[in-house]
Amino acid sequence: MLSVQQALDAVLNETRSLAAVSVALAESLGLVTAEDVVSDVDSPPFDKALMDGFAVRAADLAPGEVRLAIVEVILAGQLPSKPVTAGSATRIMTGAAIPNGADAVVKIEDARIEADGKSVVLRTNPIEAGRNIMRQGASLKRGAAVLPAGRLLRPQELGALAEVGKPRLLVRPRPTVAILATGDELVAIDANPGPGQIRNSNETMLAAQVAQAGGVAVPLGIARDNRSDLRAKIEAGLASNVLLLSGGVSEGTHDLVPAELAALGVRNIFHKINMRPGKPLWFGAWNRPGNEATTIYVFGLPGNPVSSLICFELFVKSCLRRLRGLEPSAPRILSGRLAIDHVARGERPTYNPARVSWDGSGLCVEPVRWHGSSDLQATVDANAMAVFTSGDTMYPAGQSVDVILWDGWPQGWESRP
Ligand code: AMP
Ligand code: MG
Repeated sequence: MLSVQQALDAVLNETRSLAAVSVALAESLGLVTAEDVVSDVDSPPFDKALMDGFAVRAADLAPGEVRLAIVEVILAGQLPSKPVTAGSATRIMTGAAIPNGADAVVKIEDARIEADGKSVVLRTNPIEAGRNIMRQGASLKRGAAVLPAGRLLRPQELGALAEVGKPRLLVRPRPTVAILATGDELVAIDANPGPGQIRNSNETMLAAQVAQAGGVAVPLGIARDNRSDLRAKIEAGLASNVLLLSGGVSEGTHDLVPAELAALGVRNIFHKINMRPGKPLWFGAWNRPGNEATTIYVFGLPGNPVSSLICFELFVKSCLRRLRGLEPSAPRILSGRLAIDHVARGERPTYNPARVSWDGSGLCVEPVRWHGSSDLQATVDANAMAVFTSGDTMYPAGQSVDVILWDGWPQGWESRP
């Protein structure tokens, strides 16, 4: 049986990023760049004023008051038509180009314009050349790298790309992820379960995890535990980049998923992992005959909801990150300290739902009360999983443990000073 690390390595070794596509910049939020972008302009494109005030020659300023003749007024978007010579100044607005001859801007608060509007009295101590001016290309030179490939596009990246004239760019598309729940006991979530039946909660949860991981969920409904229904629906699922099956991968007499995947030519890469929950996880890859270049990744997730949730967080999310071009793809393992004594039981390494908070100096980890892989309710109070090695072990409060956050920041982080 593979360890979690071996299984993660196997998933990532198999997974290749999706081919790049061109999208409009305005549609690219949350996607990942697939090209190195360089600037087509200097930023700023000219020496520009950072303040409303007067463009002057720094050498003209003296302690106390200095009277200078006003040459002209330039607004942002206008070009100066006259140079600033000794004894003169140009009224300038923030963002406007600095006139020739000027090498500093005195802010308007330090200026008094005379009643005739022809001269200005500046009250300022001498200032150095360059004050309140941003030089052409100071932020970015034409031809310089703006963003490398592999960057997640957030609002500020979109703004930076807009500035350098990149209305379209190459990105990795969002992976499509088919979700197929299997089980004779399942009913739709809007149905009242009859005797022995339960609602198909995994489809909704997995679709939400897919969306949160930057994929596009394609829910396929429920496949019954018989070969023909399974086969038809698995075939439909192989039209997506990734197929997630829920249930049917354990040792039950009607756990038919591995056999049906094999019959359809899906290569098994591993089945079963040394972990709790999630031991029955199945992973494989499929190429449509005649199209060896495009691989479909198939996960057979255990049906128990917490197993499904945790296997997604560890393995499916990593696969989706790699498909999207996001590195590092593997989950980020953080270190925290136990807030309470914890007794770990079981022969396999355990990923225990936990509540992680920021205590002002580090991460504080509180494993939640949890009845095992079908106890989804316990995860509602959790925001992470804490990792405990195998064997019956007592972990005292204060002991350091590995944790993997499910999403966002730990509670209390926002209030960090
Ligand atoms: P299985 O992996 O098919 O043996 O299922 C393991 C457990 O998970 C059983 O108790 C199933 O009823 C439950 N289960 C399977 N599929 C789902 C699902 N889609 N939603 C919620 N529970 C499920
Ligand atoms: Mg089942």
